[in-house]
Amino acid sequence: MDKKTKRLLGKGEIRKGIKMLAEKIDNDYEGASPVIICILKGAFVFLADLIRELKIPMKLDFISVSSYGDSSRTRGVVKILKDISIDIAGEDVIIVEDIVDTGLTLVSVHDFIKRKNPRSLKICTLLEKKVKRVKKVKIDYRGFVVPNKYVIGYGLDFGEKHRNLPEIRIMEL
Ligand code: 5GP
Repeated sequence: MDKKTKRLLGKGEIRKGIKMLAEKIDNDYEGASPVIICILKGAFVFLADLIRELKIPMKLDFISVSSYGDSSRTRGVVKILKDISIDIAGEDVIIVEDIVDTGLTLVSVHDFIKRKNPRSLKICTLLEKKVKRVKKVKIDYRGFVVPNKYVIGYGLDFGEKHRNLPEIRIMEL
């Protein structure tokens, strides 16, 4: 790796955090069968581990969005690159995201999904940065609060690389 990185969350910590999230979701959705919508690409590793910890029956779908310009300078408009394919009207829906920073991506996706009239809509994110928030987001399930640094690994990229790292690392930019 050409840039310097430092470990933030190891495999064991991530696994423990995800187990706790799954337990909460299992409790909250007892007797229900929510549709889980994964925001591509960053959340796919988290999603794969989270759903295998869940005991409730569930359906799965994917949405792909791109921010206009660099995500660190997002202006709040996201483009839907791939929409979901399941009809979620009247369904309980959970959006799964990798990391919330300004909140702009999640608010856009939340509003887009909400217009499809789900019965309920909640948000689950593995990571949250609190410093640069410009949009208020109600996060229902959160794994870890992380410092205001650029993180990679466990699905998160830098220039499309490093998504395959099994742990989460801080990258010195
Ligand atoms: P927001 O719209 O909340 O500012 O940013 C959310 C999106 O920006 C995330 O889905 C992710 O794609 C990207 N992002 C924000 N912070 C980081 C980070 O530290 N590392 C990586 N790899 N992506 C980030």
